[in-house]
Amino acid sequence: MTAQPAAPRYSDIQAEARAAAKAVLERGEGLTAAAHAAIATADSFWTRVVATVGLDQQIAAIQCGAGCFHCCHQMVGVTAAELELVRAAVAALPEPLRGQTRARIKKVAARGKKLDQAGWWRAKLRCALLDDQGRCLVHEARPLPCRAMNSSNAETCRRSLAGESLQIPVLAAQHKVWGSAQLGLAQAVAEAGHGSKIVNLGTAL
Ligand code: SF4
Repeated sequence: MTAQPAAPRYSDIQAEARAAAKAVLERGEGLTAAAHAAIATADSFWTRVVATVGLDQQIAAIQCGAGCFHCCHQMVGVTAAELELVRAAVAALPEPLRGQTRARIKKVAARGKKLDQAGWWRAKLRCALLDDQGRCLVHEARPLPCRAMNSSNAETCRRSLAGESLQIPVLAAQHKVWGSAQLGLAQAVAEAGHGSKIVNLGTAL
């Protein structure tokens, strides 16, 4: 009988993401590559979690998908590495999409510059990186917190955005993995001298 592989420890993901990003930065490959390394580490960690913990039912219940964007009205905190990754993705958009997106970025930043997290949500500030169909224009480059978001009830998300005080039914393990990966990336970025601040994507772009 083949032995079942041991489940990864959630406490390891932060250290793994930090090590992966640190190695990239030490090779001089830059912030964008460091963000890619942390994302790839979290993806691979999640694959190991799914293979060993048995989350199939919970994952099947997740209702998130292209064109569902209620959670894209939240303030998204990013490291300098994620910010560079998203900036590069915006710069790579074809025209006229790039110009239109940059105009939206300016508008959102102006409206949101004095808002805190709760105020941002109350103001229903839609991420400037959503297209008219509600799809993320930088999906492949989206920051780690965006990858952590999930819900098994999109209607609850809709009502929450509309102002009701509701608990979103989330798969907490997904939050944990990508949230911890961001902490590891933040450590590596700070240790490499790029600053330790987590900034608001909506006003930093
Ligand atoms: S970057 Fe993409 S996934 Fe993240 S909030 Fe903006 S539109 Fe949504």
